[in-house]
Amino acid sequence: MYRRNITHILIPLGLGLAVLVSYNLFLKSPSPPSSTQLTDTIEAVAPPPEPPPNRAPEIDSKHARSLDQSVIPSTPHERLLEAIRDEIEKHDLALAESKLKELPPAVLSSSETRPFVAILWNNLGLQQERLHGTQASLNAFKKAAELDDSNPIILLNLAHTYWEQRDRALNAEFLTRLMRVAPQEPFPHLAMADLLQEQDDLTEAAKHLAQAADRARQDPALQSYLAAVTAKVQRTQSVESQMTARSSTHFVVKFDGEEDQGIWTSVLEILEEAYRDIGQKFGHFPSKPIMVVLHTKDSFQGATGSPVWADGLYDPSLGRIQIPTQGATTDSKSLASVLRHEYVHALLHDRLGTNVGALPTWLNEGLAMQWAGDTWPELDQAMQGEISVIPLTSLGGSWGALPPGTSTVAYLEANSATRHMIERWGLARVDALLNAFQAKSSVATAFQNTLFISYEEFQRQWLESFEHNRS
Ligand SMILES: [Zn+2]
Repeated sequence: MYRRNITHILIPLGLGLAVLVSYNLFLKSPSPPSSTQLTDTIEAVAPPPEPPPNRAPEIDSKHARSLDQSVIPSTPHERLLEAIRDEIEKHDLALAESKLKELPPAVLSSSETRPFVAILWNNLGLQQERLHGTQASLNAFKKAAELDDSNPIILLNLAHTYWEQRDRALNAEFLTRLMRVAPQEPFPHLAMADLLQEQDDLTEAAKHLAQAADRARQDPALQSYLAAVTAKVQRTQSVESQMTARSSTHFVVKFDGEEDQGIWTSVLEILEEAYRDIGQKFGHFPSKPIMVVLHTKDSFQGATGSPVWADGLYDPSLGRIQIPTQGATTDSKSLASVLRHEYVHALLHDRLGTNVGALPTWLNEGLAMQWAGDTWPELDQAMQGEISVIPLTSLGGSWGALPPGTSTVAYLEANSATRHMIERWGLARVDALLNAFQAKSSVATAFQNTLFISYEEFQRQWLESFEHNRS
């Protein structure tokens, strides 16, 4: 029954979380996240994975993000604006920004110069983003949009930044305006669908997915992604239409009305405790209520496409923890274990937003195991036995392609390497590491800059302690 034990977290690759992770329309970087799996995976039973997001299509040149700043309006302020433009072109961004902030009110109120100042802010934002990521560019794009909210490129750049930062300002009102200004763009509809999925309005979400698909005809990768999400939304909708939803402050729990209310109560108790307890350890509380769907064994498999033995999963694209409430998980100890483990995945997704894919899978799983307080007897057994160690670098991406029989080792190592990290560097450093991933650092850079050790050296030291603990 080894599989039953470890597999409360194992399920095939969830459809589609990846592409949403960084809507490729905007992707310029040649090195987007290398892994995006928050849903759990297991060898042998994983279905053919989604086309990985890191092979996002090239950015389409028609979606230029910079604006022409060559023609400066001829006004008394021409020289001033020219100087700022040149600073931006010379990449003297701090100076350009301070000059933009100090522009006289007359420049901002004039209908001749105002749109040009918006262009300067936009182009400054692009340079800031190129150097320091979207966190650094948010303010510049906001300024640009304040000055000219009818420019589709500016609004799309701002939307992109909100999206990456999981900024709640990417709300229905903003997206509606974006749809009006950029009516041919699929992105606002995709983002609106995502918002509606979060609010559990799957009917309206499906409509926007269809509108996004209409507008994505030129983009086969986006088309196939949208088709997959649409199918998933429809399947979820049909499964959940019979369910009852009950909310607490921090969770919405859906369950089959026929089911024992007692399960709902104990699920909520476990979750609220996880909210307090893991939130304190982690220093993060979710920004919105987390949805948890309690399935019967049958509806779980049907709704999630997971194998018979899977005992739970977190689905980032639908923002749901899904678990079956029959079989193994009806006993409260393992129910708590499943819920807490998946809750950590949900929390990491909430914390890192669309950049959660930058987090190596072993660390994502390791943190779930550490913070959930998972106890898996078979891991202890595996610890005693003969194993061949998989390099951590091979556990950073999807686990779906791991050779059969190696998933126990993968979890064992994830747990051990993460514990080693927490013990040796402390939670504050781990937190800094998460910040680095949130800013889309590569694994090498993130380790070097926050743990002050190379990734290779970390692995070497961990392996030493790992072997030591086994002997
Ligand atoms: Zn997991």
